[in-house]
Amino acid sequence: MAVKQQELLRDLEKHFITHLKVEDKKETDMHRDRNESLDIRCTEFPDYSEEIRSIIKAGWLEKTPPKGGKIYQRRWVQLDSEYLRYFQSAKEVYSKRMISLRCVDKVVSVGDARFEVHSQNRTFLFRAENAEERNDWVCCLEKALSNRTHSVEAQSLFFKRKSVDFSFEGYLDLTSPRTKVYMIISGDKLYLFKNREEYFHGVGVTDVDMRMAHVNDTDKRTFTLITPYRTFSFVVESEGVKKRWHDSLNEAISRSLSCDGVCESLWRVSSNKLCADCSASMPEWASINLCVLLCEKCAGMHRSLGQNVSKVRSLKLDERVWTDDLMRVFLQLGNGKANKFWGANIPPSESLCVNANDAQRLQHITAKYQHGKYRRYHALYGQQEALNSALCKAVQSADLLETLSLLHCGADIKCHTGIPEFPSPLSLAKRSGQSAQVELLTQNLNTETLETVFKEVPIKSQCGYLYKTGSSARPITDHKNKTDFTRRWCRLEGGVFSYYRNDHTSTRSGGMKTCEIVCLSLNSPGKHGYEHTFELFSEDGRVYLFGTDDASIVKSWIKAISVAMLPPVLFDACGPCERLGRLRCIEGSDGIGWFCLSGFKLHVLLQDTVQTIDLRKLLSLTLSDSAGSMVLVWRGGTLHLPADRRPHFVGWQTCIQPKSGAGDQLLSHQQLTELDVPVIIDRCLDHVTCYGLQNSGIYRKNGVKSHITRLMERFQNDARSVTWSESEYSVDDVANVLKRFLREVKNGVLNGQEIGKSWLQAAGLEDKSERINKYQNLLSNLPDVNRATLKALIHHLVCVQHLSDENQMTVKNLGIVFGPTLFQSDGTDKKACRVVEDLIQNYCSIFNVSQSDLQRQLNLTSVTLNKHKKRSMSQSASCIICTVYLERREEEAEVLVKVWANMKAVDLVSEVLEHKGIEQTNKELWSCYEILEKEEIERTVHHNEKVLPLYFTLGPQQHLLIKKNYYVESIKNYLENIENVFKSGMLRVCEIKSERSRNYISRYCELSGTTFRLHKELRNSACEKEWPVKELKVYNGYRGKLHSPTSWGITLVCDKQQWYLCCDNEDEFIEWTATFFSIQYDGDIRPPLVVKKPQYT
Ligand SMILES: [Zn+2]
Repeated sequence: MAVKQQELLRDLEKHFITHLKVEDKKETDMHRDRNESLDIRCTEFPDYSEEIRSIIKAGWLEKTPPKGGKIYQRRWVQLDSEYLRYFQSAKEVYSKRMISLRCVDKVVSVGDARFEVHSQNRTFLFRAENAEERNDWVCCLEKALSNRTHSVEAQSLFFKRKSVDFSFEGYLDLTSPRTKVYMIISGDKLYLFKNREEYFHGVGVTDVDMRMAHVNDTDKRTFTLITPYRTFSFVVESEGVKKRWHDSLNEAISRSLSCDGVCESLWRVSSNKLCADCSASMPEWASINLCVLLCEKCAGMHRSLGQNVSKVRSLKLDERVWTDDLMRVFLQLGNGKANKFWGANIPPSESLCVNANDAQRLQHITAKYQHGKYRRYHALYGQQEALNSALCKAVQSADLLETLSLLHCGADIKCHTGIPEFPSPLSLAKRSGQSAQVELLTQNLNTETLETVFKEVPIKSQCGYLYKTGSSARPITDHKNKTDFTRRWCRLEGGVFSYYRNDHTSTRSGGMKTCEIVCLSLNSPGKHGYEHTFELFSEDGRVYLFGTDDASIVKSWIKAISVAMLPPVLFDACGPCERLGRLRCIEGSDGIGWFCLSGFKLHVLLQDTVQTIDLRKLLSLTLSDSAGSMVLVWRGGTLHLPADRRPHFVGWQTCIQPKSGAGDQLLSHQQLTELDVPVIIDRCLDHVTCYGLQNSGIYRKNGVKSHITRLMERFQNDARSVTWSESEYSVDDVANVLKRFLREVKNGVLNGQEIGKSWLQAAGLEDKSERINKYQNLLSNLPDVNRATLKALIHHLVCVQHLSDENQMTVKNLGIVFGPTLFQSDGTDKKACRVVEDLIQNYCSIFNVSQSDLQRQLNLTSVTLNKHKKRSMSQSASCIICTVYLERREEEAEVLVKVWANMKAVDLVSEVLEHKGIEQTNKELWSCYEILEKEEIERTVHHNEKVLPLYFTLGPQQHLLIKKNYYVESIKNYLENIENVFKSGMLRVCEIKSERSRNYISRYCELSGTTFRLHKELRNSACEKEWPVKELKVYNGYRGKLHSPTSWGITLVCDKQQWYLCCDNEDEFIEWTATFFSIQYDGDIRPPLVVKKPQYT
């Protein structure tokens, strides 16, 4: 029976192979042209080229493509005892072809230094340099053929082994080059074939050693096999198939990594048998600078920290790394000792288990090594000199743990030892013959030590006497006398801040956990009876005021509390601050953002990144009175800080507002453009450039006094929000506002009378080059904002005098006007005019501007003027170009609009309509819409809503659309005919929790006052949910996935929650929409008809 079966099998196989031969011919013919296109080339030179097979002969040969192709191709050909392979080049790891010697029938020499390798169904033709070389190849091949093991029972012509154990095989799509391949996983290798038939014929493409590989999931149906030399990307038919490939490849990888020497040696130390981070057994990886052995998963996380933090090597793959010295480091330190340093303070809640997911792993490993959160601090921590000398001492001893600890606690590996012959710790270690120390130092030479990454300060306890007032539930605005304070012994320890009557008692009078402190604020000196005071704001809304007369005591408390409160990344980024803490913030992780205010800089930690906002350069700052929320818009985006009734929020508001630019302050305190020029100056220069360069006597003529005063006040109030129409102020009004501002701004552009005198002195110098030198010197000593402003102003004046034929403002005239203005003087000192003349005439050399740049700008100015007499191309730095769509989202409907900081939706609408030549009429009003969720839901943007904050919050699938507002009339009519703005009734409601949730429940809904309520049944039944209407965003429509019962839906968005209300018909929909809108905008429903264009566009 068994014999019969075998016969049958053999018959079948024969039949199969004959059949395949026919198929193969077709296939080969078809793919002839593409024959060489399956190009498995490595993209990188291998970093170490271990001899994996024993090569009998290798060299360059020329090869013809099969089936009589005429073009010879130069190939690097390699022969070992099993296969003849050829490669694109000698450097490549993956062959283009590998021919099993088992399928080779004979090797034949032919003329012209050529030889043929005949297999059952193929002939490969090669040409050598010369006959001698050819003969050598033939000789080697014949020898190899004679040595191969003949076996009649062989099932495969390709593999050597009698029975081959495939763990998996099948066709797969390779994406680059895009082609189908047949793959076989056998043992610890993956073999690639052009197709299954070629495999039967004993011809393959290449094999991939799985010791070098790892598998990466990319998508549901794709995965990649990554090797040091090349990444193979595959597409499979289904997820199931992918999983099988994935598992089989990983099996092959682990087979390939069967134990060898390095592991066995290192695992002799018992603590090395467990991963240093997650305790997985038999770790096969190591971080060779941090000196820990790791499991594969943890090693992956270490690798993601970067080479300069953790140098990850394999115990099995990177054999060459494992020198005797490195082995010694790991045997002497081992995971046990290394963890005594790295993991000395891991709280149980933060420890890592074997089953941890990737996110947990990364978090733990980042905290442990990159932030050094759990390490044991060296006793000398913080004392650089002492650390360095301790390091010099340690490297001469056998104590590796001490060296590790010093290196990662701030000792400088490159410090000077003070010994000229052995200037570095490394050279000292060498001298002392401490080869393991040498190895440890060498591996750490380029490590970014913790102290360079994070200037983290250990959380030390702090205690001492401070003076304290009674805590308050409201912001402390009144002056507190010394008598209002009482002396208290304060202590910060173990995450708790406490105060006591005195230092003998152990009974706490009060305090709070540091995690409950939401804000710390340093008062300006002298605000209260004690010179130096600070406030702590607790989570539960109380304010605690502490003070002392000793500045250094306050300083050390501020530092200690900051360290205890703040995430280390932020603490490191911002240094000493006046105010810090956390706030609810829609953009932050879990809705929380961390903030530090230092001068004009607001450092913000959202998600994982610290951003710094210059408050003077905000594009807009909205402090909404009713809800109390704050919206900050800057070039990097938007911050929404929702209202918070606690005192710390009010404190932030009062701190941020004046820092965002005060009109009556120094030049550097003004609202600024990105180029550090005060917005008021930028706007005036821009306006005059647009409309006044050709006006005769510009800057000499007077404007209307009341206009000037009015515009000046508006600028000083909030420069960013100022826009005006051409008819409102004349060019001369604006020119005079500029002069007046320059004349009145505190300390002037030249930063004070004293410095002004030096400029005047410089103007007195006879020698021109001496004079220019002096100006340059004075300029470089000006504060940044002053220097940038002076440059912008002089550049403008250069443009003015360039057109002096038309405007009569010669350099001399400009000197007469701007000399006294700039020096804030009466004009009696002619040297002031001289300075301005000099600055204009020598603009390029003094301000370091290239002559050609200036010329280009002047040409541009003239061209622009000639082209559009009234319009300038110059773009105010305070504008942002935004994309909006007209009526539909299509390329042709795209409109680019310059949006200024405080542009409202109504301005945007009229801007776009004007641009597109559409006239808005009273009967046909247009509105701006916020379109979300692939155009499924939309919101009518209220005409007074600011565009920029909204624009910055739009996601990739979202946009602004201008279209006719069909509902505005119906809404208006409905509202006009009701007595009270109130609406109630049954609606089908769906809380949108996930993609699939579409659970509609009937609820009695009520919209009255400023609240929207859901009741289970009747109006009088208990209220189930309620929202303040002004904090809701109300969208028309619903997400398609919801399968709404009717098409009249309203989507409510509050923070990250979404609710969907389903109305029965259009009328109901209009009534609800109207009521929502009316409550949200206090009855201000109808956009005004704006036909006149605002000026800053
Ligand atoms: Zn691990």
